[in-house]
Amino acid sequence: MKILTVAGARPNFIKIAPLHRAFNACGDFVSRTVHTGQHSDFSMSGIFFRQLGLPGPDHFLGIGAGTQTEQIAKIMLAFERTIKKEKPDLIVVVGDVNSSFACALVAAKLHIPIAHVEAGLRCGDRKMPEEINRILIDAMADVHFATESAAVGNLLNENIDLDRIHLVGNVMIDSLLYYMPDIERITLLQTLGITQPYLLLTMHRPQNVDSKPALEKLLDLINALASTRLVIFPVHPRTLNNINHFNLLTAFNNIKNLRLLVPAGYFEFVHLTKNAVLVLTDSGGVQEETTFLRIPCITLRKETERPVTVLEGTNHLAGDYSVKKVVALIDGILSKPLKDTRIPSGWDGNTATRITAILREKYINS
Ligand code: UDP
Repeated sequence: MKILTVAGARPNFIKIAPLHRAFNACGDFVSRTVHTGQHSDFSMSGIFFRQLGLPGPDHFLGIGAGTQTEQIAKIMLAFERTIKKEKPDLIVVVGDVNSSFACALVAAKLHIPIAHVEAGLRCGDRKMPEEINRILIDAMADVHFATESAAVGNLLNENIDLDRIHLVGNVMIDSLLYYMPDIERITLLQTLGITQPYLLLTMHRPQNVDSKPALEKLLDLINALASTRLVIFPVHPRTLNNINHFNLLTAFNNIKNLRLLVPAGYFEFVHLTKNAVLVLTDSGGVQEETTFLRIPCITLRKETERPVTVLEGTNHLAGDYSVKKVVALIDGILSKPLKDTRIPSGWDGNTATRITAILREKYINS
């Protein structure tokens, strides 16, 4: 049975690595990968293939940047050609990026079964590009692999049959555990000469970085945070483009106690996370990694599609944040002993193996 697994953007590479390994380890599957090229520069793509030991993709579609519609349309056209060449028996898509949605739509039209890894996550905000992708992918998928129980509830509310839904855990945590020995060897902090406590910041969602007022608010926040602690900020290319576009780079560069970095490699970023006092983010994956690593996290968004990270983990939602509110939240979190948190069920490093067993049972043994 031939499985074609799709990746396009940074978080996807981290999710497909354990899947590709588990599919290959199971003698019944031939595993092929497609990289759409939604992210294609070295810091957002190449370094992940290298660090994760992923063989170069079997198909690279070279899509690049564009509006969402351009990206989706280009991916669909290119992926249809790939499918015709590869003739896969199953398509696996992960997460919620445009590549996952576009490829799932092509597969659905060609009547190829789709498995969605990280199914059922919902934040309730359809203006968030990923939310529409999530809903539509799940409407088309034949098998849904969920990371947390809230996702199962969301899928049932959308009339997905229970026998298609599997609560299997989190492939991101498979990667975190598998590569931990490599992460432990990273010495970036030493190289950067950083010995003092620091806050780690990542920011790339459109609502936080696409307008001048949003970036000015971020600037104010960093100014306030950096008055008491070092802030380390590996800057996503989208964020950097907008900082440049709105002529704010000098203002960011002038903040003392702020270390702006290029996007970090995966090993380097987890090393920075593990050693941080607290992480501020709008990333999905980072909310999960901080929960697993038991590092306090503040999510600078109004809602999260990953509620288990707040209910059981270390995540705190800042809502429609103000500088004052975030500073008070940090002081509150750090002035008390860390809250007693749990690692969500199934976030144990074996999710890709469970997914493989379920697919085998469904498509080969039955
Ligand atoms: N990450 C990374 N380098 C960075 C920032 C994040 O390797 O500079 C990793 C992080 O550890 C996590 C993933 O990228 O595994 C999250 O991706 P991103 O925030 O781009 O996407 P999201 O999870 O929000 O979809």
